[in-house]
Amino acid sequence: MINNLIEEIKKRAKAIRKEGDYIDPDTGLLHCGVCHEPKQQIVIPHNHRAFPAVRECRCEREQRQKEKEVLDRYDREQHQKELDKGIKAEAFKGFTFDRDDKRNITVSKLCCDYVRHFAEAEQISSGLLFYGDVGGGKSFYAGCIANALIKRGVPVLFTSLRDLVDNRQAAKYKGAELIGLQGYRLFVLDDIGAEKLNRTDLDTAFSVIDDIYNTKKPMIVTTNLTIAQIEKPDNLDIARIYTRIRERSPKSVFVDNSNYNRIKTAEEKRKRINTILNT
Ligand SMILES: [Zn+2]
Repeated sequence: MINNLIEEIKKRAKAIRKEGDYIDPDTGLLHCGVCHEPKQQIVIPHNHRAFPAVRECRCEREQRQKEKEVLDRYDREQHQKELDKGIKAEAFKGFTFDRDDKRNITVSKLCCDYVRHFAEAEQISSGLLFYGDVGGGKSFYAGCIANALIKRGVPVLFTSLRDLVDNRQAAKYKGAELIGLQGYRLFVLDDIGAEKLNRTDLDTAFSVIDDIYNTKKPMIVTTNLTIAQIEKPDNLDIARIYTRIRERSPKSVFVDNSNYNRIKTAEEKRKRINTILNT
């Protein structure tokens, strides 16, 4: 019986033996020539005879761990690539908190807080509406939130009403929806009110906004319109679109541009003076 087992150990050891490996004289088991851990172990199943099973030595465990890390990283990168597709325009990918010049510290803080508390905001389907004059950085702030959430693995669609309408209409001709809205947890609609929508566009816009509304996910909206123009538009078709948008972006955030202009002017002055002094 014991002899059988020793023979079995030898036979199986041959199959897995690598250069440098050796049979340990005390146990008779194959050992790794590098880490000196056994590569075999005796297993005794219940009511069955003992047999030598393969065991991973330290080098093999480490090798497997390394391979797993490479695969995990690959999965993460693939996942990140998928998420990055949510931001359609290249320019918006550069809108990140580390590029914030903190010209409007209240808004910056609010945006960071929104990212931090996103899960709670998501539960109550509540996003933000950035309004204010042109040049204040409304899209920048919306982009910062989108990018920060994407970095945390949250699927965000950063788009415009015009693009949503175009995509849906193109999809209709192709007989397929181009974008699966269900996968997103936040919708960012940039520059609401700037788009020109004809009769057909308005119907499409309503249908796509209604679909987004029905996902119950928050919306973040930027607009040059006033709150009154958003909440009480003259056109009834636009009103039913904005009502849904407003319900998912209930918090108004005013973005002032007066500071921005001042800094911009100072920057321009510095550039000018540098040019003058260099010549
Ligand atoms: Zn080893």
